[in-house]
Amino acid sequence: MYPNLLQPLDLGFTQLKNRVLMGSMHTGLEDSAKGLQQLATFYEERAKGGVGLIVTGGFSPNLRGRLYPTAAQFSRPKHAKAHQVITDAVHKHDGKIALQLLHAGRYGYHPLTQSSTPAKAPIAKFAPSEMSHRQVKSTIDDYANSAALAKLAGYDGVEVMGSEGYLINQFICKRTNKRDDQWGGCYNNRMRFPLQIVKAIRAAAGEDFIIIFRLSMLDLVEEGSTLDDVILLAKELERAGVTIINTGIGWHEARIPTIVTSVPRGAFTWVTNKIKPHVSIPVVATNRINTPDQAEHIIEQGAADMVSMARPFLADPEFVIKAQNSQPHLINTCIGCNQACLDNAFKGKRASCMVNPRACYETQYPILIAQVSKRVVVVGAGPAGLSAALYCAKRGHKVDLIEQSDRIGGQFRLAMQIPGKEEFRETIRYFANQLDKYGVNVQLNQVATEQVLEDYDEVIMATGVKPRTVDISGLGESSKVYDYQTVIREKSHLGSKVAVIGAGGVGIDVATMLTEPSRFSLQEWMHEWGIDQEYQHAGGLYPFPEIHAKTQVWLLQRKLGTVGKGPGKTTGWVHRATLKKRGVHLTAGVTYQKWDESGLHIATQGEDHILPVDSVVVCAGQESVRPFADKWGEKAGHLHVIGGADEAGELDAVRAIRQGFEVAIKI
Ligand code: NAP
Ligand code: SF4
Repeated sequence: MYPNLLQPLDLGFTQLKNRVLMGSMHTGLEDSAKGLQQLATFYEERAKGGVGLIVTGGFSPNLRGRLYPTAAQFSRPKHAKAHQVITDAVHKHDGKIALQLLHAGRYGYHPLTQSSTPAKAPIAKFAPSEMSHRQVKSTIDDYANSAALAKLAGYDGVEVMGSEGYLINQFICKRTNKRDDQWGGCYNNRMRFPLQIVKAIRAAAGEDFIIIFRLSMLDLVEEGSTLDDVILLAKELERAGVTIINTGIGWHEARIPTIVTSVPRGAFTWVTNKIKPHVSIPVVATNRINTPDQAEHIIEQGAADMVSMARPFLADPEFVIKAQNSQPHLINTCIGCNQACLDNAFKGKRASCMVNPRACYETQYPILIAQVSKRVVVVGAGPAGLSAALYCAKRGHKVDLIEQSDRIGGQFRLAMQIPGKEEFRETIRYFANQLDKYGVNVQLNQVATEQVLEDYDEVIMATGVKPRTVDISGLGESSKVYDYQTVIREKSHLGSKVAVIGAGGVGIDVATMLTEPSRFSLQEWMHEWGIDQEYQHAGGLYPFPEIHAKTQVWLLQRKLGTVGKGPGKTTGWVHRATLKKRGVHLTAGVTYQKWDESGLHIATQGEDHILPVDSVVVCAGQESVRPFADKWGEKAGHLHVIGGADEAGELDAVRAIRQGFEVAIKI
């Protein structure tokens, strides 16, 4: 089914079994010796699942290059010894694995950071010190030392992290390199640091060792590289001894989204395609590639020789095997939400996956067949119920899933209708196919009665939530006031001026939906974010265009501070930037007064205002729905209330799916 994707890749001294590269991800397990065993199991499952080449999370070649004080370093013989558990686990399944070497430069979160120039990054807390000539040379030696140790540990290669705005990128670009010695100034001088690193690694690790260079092909920041710069560096890297060039898109400080779910699939493949004709070594495409069909298409079109996917392997370790077996419909697709992977990593917590709670917890959560097969009923087919039903069935229980509406999916069915969140559809597709495979008896249009539930050994109540109503004078009686479920489901016509009450995740979603341009192609998305697809400007940027949304929206919250700050550490800024560009009035510190024919009366900072809106959408959170659960105290131990039915505040799909999984592995 995927002849190009699954074709081996000959690197001369070694062969990769297919064109799939599992991209580097920081899981949080890298940073402790105890974590390495868990990391080994994590990679082993992916190697067993057929990945051609795995790249680890980033390890610093020295102390000052660490991402934060306790972050992982790989520079001593003891590190090589400790990592053998990882390489052995991967090689057991005929897999290949490369260690990523990452020097954070000015992105380091500690006072010892160093960079080409002592300028603080806009997203950093600490200003770096400027590296002396001697320090530059010793850092190059540190890369070579780490690579030699990686070989000793059994790694098949290293990936040199040269993109996303980390140290090497800081040397390459004028933006951050203001030096006037042999490491700065003209482009030849600024390229010297990465080229010398690669040459030193090649000399230290020998010819039979994979060197991947993650090249920043599109910086998306001012004073970034031009297309000519990138092409020249790619050619020089090949000459210096690089085996594979991987694509890097956007610095971390760039204010353009590059991987979140609203980025169209494969949005940056065109960049790799511009570089590929200029080198003869394999080139890898990255960013928002999450299905085998899309990956196959990229290689078939000749845009890249390999495809890198990172988060899709958190979501499903068996991605490649399922593609090999022509079962793409059974793949648990990464939906780009960032909610359990990057959001966790940025909070210093272990990464996992919203749609696969086992990710990075493989050793703690084996799925074992139950000793006694029970009759289990799950009430409600939203994310929590779907998860509970599937994992119960996988463990050998006999499962009935009762849903009162005519389809499964619950809140995900609403989410997938928000522009930029279409991926949520994939999770529903995944569960539908898996429930079928594991023989779950799905009963739609059924209301679970107390009498029916009496018949089961275990009852899992995943009955979800209903929208909260608000008590504002005049609102209850008006036909121009809508709850968010109705608006999203029915795409109600709301007029040209709308107030949205509540700026949580749902309020933001509704404001996005109301201001979305009617047709939104990849080109229009690029245009909205000021990405220069012709690549005629340095960094691939042109000035942000003005967007005029047809609907004028006021997004309101009672609390003071940034409007819509709640959801998603790594995604919230994208939502807020989108709304600002579309002219949404983001209003905090609101007191609601009343609604009448002149509009919505509010006060902010002691001043009264009338918002002349045609309608109001209430997005004020939810309340739990759990029929007769409270009365069933006597069934303690056999009744399990999960998801929004358990806790409507902080309603969160990560918790819902994890609770479903956790209840299933314990009954
Ligand atoms: P939410 O996060 O609880 O936000 C609702 C907001 O409504 C509250 O923050 C509150 O803000 C306001 N509110 C509450 N009661 C009110 C009242 N009686 N009158 C007026 N305003 C009131 O709920 P949500 O937006 O429905 O989101 C539900 C869950 O889904 C959240 O956990 C959210 O993170 C998650 N979600 C996440 C995403 C994402 O992209 N990551 C997207 C959608 C939903 P003020 O009191 O300050 O006005
Ligand atoms: Fe993908 Fe979301 Fe899972 Fe992260 S948490 S791997 S973005 S599905």
